[in-house]
Amino acid sequence: MFETQVYDEIDETVWNVSLTPITNEAYLKAPPGSERVSASPFDLLVLYPAVSGAKVLATGQLTKAQLPPGEYLHNVWAAVDLNDDGQPDGLHCSFFCKCPELVRGPKACDECDCDYACSESYLMREGKWEVVSAVGPM
Ligand SMILES: [Zn+2]
Repeated sequence: MFETQVYDEIDETVWNVSLTPITNEAYLKAPPGSERVSASPFDLLVLYPAVSGAKVLATGQLTKAQLPPGEYLHNVWAAVDLNDDGQPDGLHCSFFCKCPELVRGPKACDECDCDYACSESYLMREGKWEVVSAVGPM
């Protein structure tokens, strides 16, 4: 179930999505990865509306040529192929807000102390990457 909510102060409409509760024990008991804490053992990517046949691509196999101009491979958190051509059609990138050239590490960068708190999501539309969501400090 979802509803839209309009934020007049930032002139933006967002979707509030309520997911069906997960009951599969395999997800609930998943051990954390080596760099994760037990309270959040893994990340979750929700594709809404659903796209039949969509596949998550291994971020380590992407090339710079497959990314939006200026985006860094090390900032790609998720890549999704929506049309079964093996190419990314959706990307989610997370990065140090002022220093996206730095690789993921501690919460704040060593260069200027900016936070690892910015993200951008892209969709491929008519052969071009389009930013569909961007999050950063207010
Ligand atoms: Zn910085």
